[in-house]
Amino acid sequence: MQITEIYKSLQGESSWAGLPCIFVRLTACNLRCTWCDSEYTFTGGVRMPLEQVEAEVRRLSGASRHCTRDSSGLEPTRNDAIHEETWNTQELLPLVEITGGEPMLQEREVVPLMQRLLASGYTVLLETSGERPLANVPPAVVKIVDVKCPHSGAADSFRMENLQALGPRDEVKFVVSDRTDYEFAREFLGRHGLAGRVHSVILSPAFRKDANGARDASHCLLDPRELADWMLEDALPARLGLQIHKFIWDPALKGV
Ligand code: SF4
Repeated sequence: MQITEIYKSLQGESSWAGLPCIFVRLTACNLRCTWCDSEYTFTGGVRMPLEQVEAEVRRLSGASRHCTRDSSGLEPTRNDAIHEETWNTQELLPLVEITGGEPMLQEREVVPLMQRLLASGYTVLLETSGERPLANVPPAVVKIVDVKCPHSGAADSFRMENLQALGPRDEVKFVVSDRTDYEFAREFLGRHGLAGRVHSVILSPAFRKDANGARDASHCLLDPRELADWMLEDALPARLGLQIHKFIWDPALKGV
């Protein structure tokens, strides 16, 4: 598969935010969101066989040191529970996110990769634009699915049949840049009963794609406080999400 980068950082923008995570970032995207901060994934990358990707994930997770048979003859296992319960060994990093670009453009290879990572005991997150079909994603994968808002530049790209593929461990994310986007998200989540269908609905203020330097909310296209006020006013059954990696490291930095 075509890979832009594999690295370790903190998960930045979901209900998993703040947890150490290994990211497998695939090359290419078929959308062009106005605020996209991943344009460097659109081209290039390196061709890697699935086994090599898996080996790099294992190396970054420390699995080579720990996933060996112990004296009882059993492989160390990690349970399939979500969030912090994922951690049941002391030194392994069990969380992997498949992202892009749009990873489901490489469905033929990325689905087997997810299956193998799950079989090895990893908790696997898939971050996707919602435009590609998700029916073949293994059910144990946590899908973090965007619904693109009117001012994203990719309005109406969400594939409506993907609603059927969403379950109680999945998350839906709206990146919001103004009041029109907010009202779209509010209407969409109400009309489709998203709060009762998935683990989390997240509204996240869009970041300026050329943001660099200051690590603060001044780079947000919509003031998070304004978004918070709207959500409180409407008692919206959703979380406000901030891309925490952009408050920890320079927003322009790659590989974080
Ligand atoms: S779907 Fe993601 S990677 Fe593709 S253009 Fe939009 S923000 Fe960028």
